[in-house]
Amino acid sequence: MRKHYEVVIGLEVHVQLTTNTKIFCGCSTAFGSSPNSQTCPVCLGLPGALPVLNRQVVENAIKAGLATNCQIAPRSIFARKNYFYPDLPKGYQISQFELPICEHGHLDIETEGQGERGGHQTIGITRIHMEEDAGKLLHSDDPTTGSRVDLNRACTPLLEVVSEPDMRSSDEAIAYLKKLHQIVMYLGICDGNLEEGSFRCDANVSVRPWGQEELGTRAELKNINSFRFIKEGIEYEIDRQIELIEDGGEVVQETRLYDSNTGMTRSMRGKEEAHDYRYFPDPDLVPLIIDNDWIETVRGILPELPEPKKARFMADYSLSAHNTDILTAEKALADYFDACARQHKDAKACANWVMGDVQRRRNDEGISVAEIPVTPELLVGMLERIADKTISGKIAKTVFEEMWTSGKSADAIIDEKGLKQVTDTGAIEKMVDDVIAANPGQAQEFSEGKDKLLGFFVGQVMKASKGKANPGMVNELLCKKLRG
Ligand code: ADP
Ligand code: MG
Ligand code: ZN
Repeated sequence: MRKHYEVVIGLEVHVQLTTNTKIFCGCSTAFGSSPNSQTCPVCLGLPGALPVLNRQVVENAIKAGLATNCQIAPRSIFARKNYFYPDLPKGYQISQFELPICEHGHLDIETEGQGERGGHQTIGITRIHMEEDAGKLLHSDDPTTGSRVDLNRACTPLLEVVSEPDMRSSDEAIAYLKKLHQIVMYLGICDGNLEEGSFRCDANVSVRPWGQEELGTRAELKNINSFRFIKEGIEYEIDRQIELIEDGGEVVQETRLYDSNTGMTRSMRGKEEAHDYRYFPDPDLVPLIIDNDWIETVRGILPELPEPKKARFMADYSLSAHNTDILTAEKALADYFDACARQHKDAKACANWVMGDVQRRRNDEGISVAEIPVTPELLVGMLERIADKTISGKIAKTVFEEMWTSGKSADAIIDEKGLKQVTDTGAIEKMVDDVIAANPGQAQEFSEGKDKLLGFFVGQVMKASKGKANPGMVNELLCKKLRG
């Protein structure tokens, strides 16, 4: 059935900003304090309290806008979005409606698909606006306790990034989301934690028969907290809608919840329209004016973003697109690799060690890049010793382990443990002779043509040298003697 329908997806992403204080008051945004301890008359919505806009929030919004190719509005307006819910003390949320801070942006994504929709796509970004978050309701099963509200989160700053309905599959939706996630992480404006709700996505999904111009009726999937669940929710929703239409039914516009236990979505409420919210400009806040100087100042402090970083790594370090993707996925890791490659001439070796042992060890311990005990300087110190043949790649694994646990330099470890590679021909020759003498049978078979025994001999000599003999020299000498 799927092939008769085109899927249309538009995403709304809420990005929680990592500012120290809230968007309209000086209360702390720190997570985990006791309920309602980080509140004041403004974020409690007490009568007469006036909001004051946090400059850092505006700066972060400008950063997000520039990084997603948006136009930054010279003048934007805060609006009241009116609705009643116990976690919203004022009875309205301060948001932006008619004149948001950013508009008309786009992100480029890559997907693996084939044909017309494979590979490269440009996804439009309709708008990015600033708004305040609501509080949190704590529900209890105990009827005497009832439900309570924690307003610590009320008034924490959010950016809402709204895409055009430009995605045509769950793969494209995930590629877009990951791209946006990567960008806000690079910008350092969000901690990016999906599970804790710092980066939350509402997915609008509809289907239409191929060739139909008009968009189908959409369902909006709310607040799904992992990339995998977002994909599953969208997939379920596509099938549900197509089946419904095929059975002669009609999709109704509504908000649906995704249940990760069943993999299904279910109706939560009918969809509100903008007019339900009675939006109007907030009279407590003056229009936000952003001049060119401010925009250019912010542009000047933007970090190098994923795309240009990738291009630079490929050009300067001759890395493959695939390896570059891995190394730039996370800004901190990209910086770590970059620091290594700037100090060591063999960028490929740097890349291999960073993607290999460094990442493996880091995953084992579940630590952030900042917590990696082997600094780029230490790693490069070891790579230099491989390059000048002081140690083999195999011994390097031991040295790396030791650097990781002790924090000592490669030179100190090589010295202390006597790991210097044996390149002295005489010493290696002696070991080769001993091994051949100890294995006369195998030596005989080898001379009769059983070539694969060479591996056995190399292994024996390497063992005798405790891994320190130069493998190239061992090979060469063995061949010479055995064929002798
Ligand atoms: P609201 O804020 O009420 O949810 P918007 O009109 O701002 O409504 O749209 C929100 C999101 O829904 C946007 O990302 C948009 O691209 C997407 N969208 C709108 N219509 C459709 C549709 N028919 N199918 C899929 N996505 C849609
Ligand atoms: Mg919506
Ligand atoms: Zn406050």
